[in-house]
Amino acid sequence: PTSSPRVIYWFRTDLRLHDSPALIHALSLSPSILYPIWTWDPYYVYHSRIGSNRWKFLLDCQNNLSASLTALNPKSKLFVIREAPQTLFPKLFKAWGITHLVFEKDTDAYARERDGRVIELAREAGVEVIVKPGRTLYDSDELVKENKGKPTMSINQVQAAGAKIGDIPRPLLAPKSLPDPGETDLDFKQERPNRDHDANSNPRKEIENTYSALAGPNGDFAVPTVAELGIQEASTPHRGGETIALKILDEIVADSDYTATFEKPKTAPTAFEPQATTLLSPHLHFGSLSCREFYWRVQGVVDKYKGKASQPPTSLTGQLLFRDMYFGAQASLNYSFRQTYNNSQCRFIPWHLPSEIDSKSGLITGKYHIDNQEALEWFTRWREGRTGFPWIDALMRQLKQEGWIHHLGRHAVACFLTRGGCYVDWERGAEVFEEWLIDHEAACNIGNWQWLSCTAFYSQFYRCYSPIAFPQKWDKEGKFVRRYCPELATFDAKYIYEPWKAPIADQKSWGCLIKGDGEQNEEGKFMVYPNPMFDFPERRDICIRAMKNAYSVGLYGDDPRVVDGSWRKL
Ligand code: FAD
Repeated sequence: PTSSPRVIYWFRTDLRLHDSPALIHALSLSPSILYPIWTWDPYYVYHSRIGSNRWKFLLDCQNNLSASLTALNPKSKLFVIREAPQTLFPKLFKAWGITHLVFEKDTDAYARERDGRVIELAREAGVEVIVKPGRTLYDSDELVKENKGKPTMSINQVQAAGAKIGDIPRPLLAPKSLPDPGETDLDFKQERPNRDHDANSNPRKEIENTYSALAGPNGDFAVPTVAELGIQEASTPHRGGETIALKILDEIVADSDYTATFEKPKTAPTAFEPQATTLLSPHLHFGSLSCREFYWRVQGVVDKYKGKASQPPTSLTGQLLFRDMYFGAQASLNYSFRQTYNNSQCRFIPWHLPSEIDSKSGLITGKYHIDNQEALEWFTRWREGRTGFPWIDALMRQLKQEGWIHHLGRHAVACFLTRGGCYVDWERGAEVFEEWLIDHEAACNIGNWQWLSCTAFYSQFYRCYSPIAFPQKWDKEGKFVRRYCPELATFDAKYIYEPWKAPIADQKSWGCLIKGDGEQNEEGKFMVYPNPMFDFPERRDICIRAMKNAYSVGLYGDDPRVVDGSWRKL
């Protein structure tokens, strides 16, 4: 049958048509039939932390992709099939007479395991599988190989390994046409051998149920709606989809000064509408923008630029190298990357609220040890944006509402929660980001939390972000705080980062009292904003001393002393 291939193209991390090496490869097989599908994997639906803002962004991307597929062939679209790939594919292969399965490579730990299983099932069914890298500038496994088989822990290592691999691939054009999809009947009767012997079953009903469970409420494999998913309405203003991503990129590169002279440390974390960086991260996460398209469009502007262009790592292309660095670290360390325990690159620090580890599997259980009520209170107040430090609270509220905050804002809240304030385990913070970020990318989130907590990638723990002096440098007036903490909107700029210092008479005349822990937000005719939850300079000094201690002990997550029950007692 290979003379007229019947191909499934499995969309996952690549919700786009432009620069998709795997999709172009699928089309180069000259298929008679091509099914573009998305499998609604219960791992993500039920086992991951995903807030409604990221769901919505995903649905936007899927709807946009589906419309683009239909524009190339009126019979085509994104067929969203509601079942786990590990059980679905054997049935699909048979029902649709599939000869080839093609998808973009994914090096996330769970994805590797899942794809390994799917490849096995395809082999059993006589289906040829083709996997092409396309999610990063360099194939992450190649990067690790050229880094002497080790996780990439610095930009220098990425640049050196990248130079050995060769040029970053140039982007590919989007296809101009698509083959028809075949029939989408999914009568899986034959897969249910015991059905006829089950006295309680109604055969017709069962097939119908199977079909609608797989094909959605209207039986047409449509992209789910927010209502079908049963999730809350999204509150983010940021929208997904390839069309929007390419438009944003066009606008960015049209401004050649911005693009060529971009220096990350000089971009203001307090800027909003518009923000100071590109906000393309959620598009890179869902693959509605190709990172090589981004890279080469920017490089094209830099090459033509008459003035002095910025250089990696602070330049825009440098930002994409950081992304590749974290993907390389994750590709090498696999499951152990996401936690301290068993992680050879991650320093062991005796944080408050450490994870509980399942002693058999060595994986985090999703629970944590509540060994310190005060730390639990700090963590809760951090999460809910009521620490009493307006800079921190404004960022956490922006994160929750909009699903995106500036990189240096992420620095500020991550440092504050871990080594520069609360001394709470970075894994707790990473979990909150995982739920709320629209750009949540396991590799980047985990890697950056390790960086900020000085457990890997970075070690200058004596450099802390002050929640007062740092934002003052960017935004003297406190516009950002006024926007996200409206209780403080009328406070004098002098007190905007330290409202507890304002005289009571002033607090009253500005309509907001500084008191309590933020659980109460009104008192009579006044609004209420919390008192700071601790004395910051005091906490910072305690943390620095503790970090110094932990560094001098010098244990890493894979040290047997950490494994053998001394996890919490060290
Ligand atoms: P730009 O400055 O415009 O950069 C362009 C692109 O480069 C980004 O879209 C992103 O893909 C990549 N990039 C930039 N900085 C980094 C970085 N430090 N690490 C990795 N990639 C980078 N980024 C994520 O994509 N997903 C995450 O889950 C994530 N979690 C983070 C958690 C913490 C604690 C911190 C400190 C940073 C995290 N980052 C994460 C990295 C970074 O903050 C975001 O990528 C960036 O702020 C996204 O905004 P942008 O698209 O405007 O970035």
